[in-house]
Amino acid sequence: MQIAPGLHLVDGMEKGIVHAYVWERPDGKLTLIDAGMPGDAPRILAFVQQLGPGRLDRIIVTHGDIDHMGGLAAIQAASGARVICHAVEKAVVEGRQRRVMGNSLLRRAYGRAFDFVTHIFLGYRPRTPVDELVLDKQMLVEGFQVIHVPGHTAGQIALYQPERGILLVADALNNRGRALGLPPAIATPHMDIAKDSIRKLAALKGVQLICFGHGAPITQNAAERLSAFAASLDKK
Ligand SMILES: [Zn+2]
Repeated sequence: MQIAPGLHLVDGMEKGIVHAYVWERPDGKLTLIDAGMPGDAPRILAFVQQLGPGRLDRIIVTHGDIDHMGGLAAIQAASGARVICHAVEKAVVEGRQRRVMGNSLLRRAYGRAFDFVTHIFLGYRPRTPVDELVLDKQMLVEGFQVIHVPGHTAGQIALYQPERGILLVADALNNRGRALGLPPAIATPHMDIAKDSIRKLAALKGVQLICFGHGAPITQNAAERLSAFAASLDKK
């Protein structure tokens, strides 16, 4: 589904639990932004193929969660694409460090149980080497600027295309249900920092379109809705 010229939400994932996006670069190549659940790899590869064989050469992983990089190993192997993430997220994406869960007495248990279940039932084990590390404010060949939005994970990034006001927020906030929402507490170890990240996004100038890891894109009054949500956080 084309959301804006050059920006696609991978077909078949519109109503799924998580979204992945494809960006058509001016050089004719494609960048995949996030790689879905492990079971999403075939659908993402088919979608990319339909846009043109051999075009996918970069995969940006917004953060190291199973629903954003579950299909990464298969898609990278099939395409040979370079893998890109924030420098702080590298060890998690490569499977050398466990993702830190939310603050809870049970968080170690959650983390271990989660690893066990995803490994046994989904055959998921992060292991894809990262080729390129990015930092806050860096401008990418995609024409998107990296916005470091920690809190949900330490190295999560959003992407902002200032000329057209296109903002991909990953899981910094979501649009599940009818309203904007914070990332889930169980998987957000630093909620105060996550709120600061939302304020940072709300301070961007000229936002026209917001795309989420979870929930439908916002195409109308995007800047106003983001600002209102950020302002509401001060009162919570
Ligand atoms: Zn997610």
